[in-house]
Amino acid sequence: MTDIEGQPLWVAIVGSGPAGYYTAEALTKNAENIRIDILDRLPTPFGLIRGGVAPDHQSIKAVARRYEKTAAQKNVRFVGNLNIGSDITIDNLRLLYDAVVLANGAPQDLKLGLSGEDKIGVIGSAEFVGWYNSHPDFASLNPNLNIKDVVVIGNGNVAVDCARILAKTAKEMASTDLAQHAAKLIHTAPIENIYLAGRRGPLEGKFTPKELGELGQLENCVALVDPKQIPNDLMGVDPKELTLKGKNLNHLKKFIENTSSEKPINLHIMFYASPIEILGGDLVTGIKFEKTKVEAGKCVGLGEYFIIPCKMVLSAIGYQSTPISGAPFDPKRGCFKNDNGFIENGLYTVGWAKRGPSGTIGTNKPDGIAVAKLILEQSSPSEKKGRTGLDELVSKCGLKIVTFEGWKKIEEAEENAAEGLAPRAKFSNIEDMLRIID
Ligand code: NAP
Repeated sequence: MTDIEGQPLWVAIVGSGPAGYYTAEALTKNAENIRIDILDRLPTPFGLIRGGVAPDHQSIKAVARRYEKTAAQKNVRFVGNLNIGSDITIDNLRLLYDAVVLANGAPQDLKLGLSGEDKIGVIGSAEFVGWYNSHPDFASLNPNLNIKDVVVIGNGNVAVDCARILAKTAKEMASTDLAQHAAKLIHTAPIENIYLAGRRGPLEGKFTPKELGELGQLENCVALVDPKQIPNDLMGVDPKELTLKGKNLNHLKKFIENTSSEKPINLHIMFYASPIEILGGDLVTGIKFEKTKVEAGKCVGLGEYFIIPCKMVLSAIGYQSTPISGAPFDPKRGCFKNDNGFIENGLYTVGWAKRGPSGTIGTNKPDGIAVAKLILEQSSPSEKKGRTGLDELVSKCGLKIVTFEGWKKIEEAEENAAEGLAPRAKFSNIEDMLRIID
């Protein structure tokens, strides 16, 4: 336990998602004389928990209760509606705080890098997930879902989330906080086929067993696989992954028994299909794939091609962080240049902004503990103005920040507006949120 006496250690955390809150939790547990401001560009806290985790995974979202305990501590403050990089700079923050931690996640879609990617109907998962989760950045996406065929590219949990949310009925989504604008379109869409396309094989799929298994329990949608693509055993699998891959394989083997006529929507879980071109004019009309095989874990093209006609391509192939002026960025890794969370004197990073988009929500906990330890080892209180200085700057710039109490008013209004079994009806517009606080 590091106790710091006298002048407090001032820490600013940029981003109020899981990585930000786990860092704040670890800092408060290990230092007494510390003051932490958690800054977010949205008026709402909790990052991916609110805007990324699927609306039908409410038990995962419940981890926010843990972050609330940290938020309720006297030495922790939430400062919402403040965009670091545009409202105020990282350099401004570094002049005011002894340590600045970038925990701003990885909110941008990776590009497929394919011809035709700019056609109308090609949508990145960050946009689509943000849209169905009421994220203000994507509330106006308004995708054309008056379609029969959708291709989802990727074999990770986000691809599975997108396919499942498209396939679930209004009844299945009744106890969720699916955005109302999304519910209107999804639950009236005439979708018949969802193709979930992985460029490698079933044993290389990055989905996890619980998420894959859920695809076998949908009311209106049957999960289908090509039996020729499903191996009998786990040959070649890394011994550390045998349990996880074994569970995935069991689910896929069960899907072999399913038939397309069982339910109105067919979910085709496809492997060995690498996207090479998006087809169409201004609008998507299909996607061309190359068949592949896997050699030493790598995807190798076979020179054989096929086309799936469709009017929507959802690309769920991973994310990258948003660069912020004043912090060195590694465009190849899509995150800040850092050495185990250390960027440069007084500047740190954590979570997806540090390591790229991998792992579950819980993976951010050890990450937060590690960066907190580093900060407490390397930083000491100085004469910096901390919170007072930030408030002066905010006032000078005429900015309107949102406190945790302000967020609680938004939350209360959302809960009051919920209908039926839904836990809340989320705002998707920042002006509406600010009006509630006023
Ligand atoms: P991910 O797990 O890295 O999966 C990305 C998928 O996209 C992989 O199948 C990958 O294939 C494929 N891909 C990448 N580039 C491609 C390309 N150019 N063409 C075709 N396919 C391509 O990423 P994610 O699904 O975005 O998830 C991010 C993280 O959040 C993961 O750690 C995930 O587990 C986590 N998450 C967890 C949950 C949950 O726990 N319920 C829910 C959502 C997300 P290769 O493997 O061949 O590269």
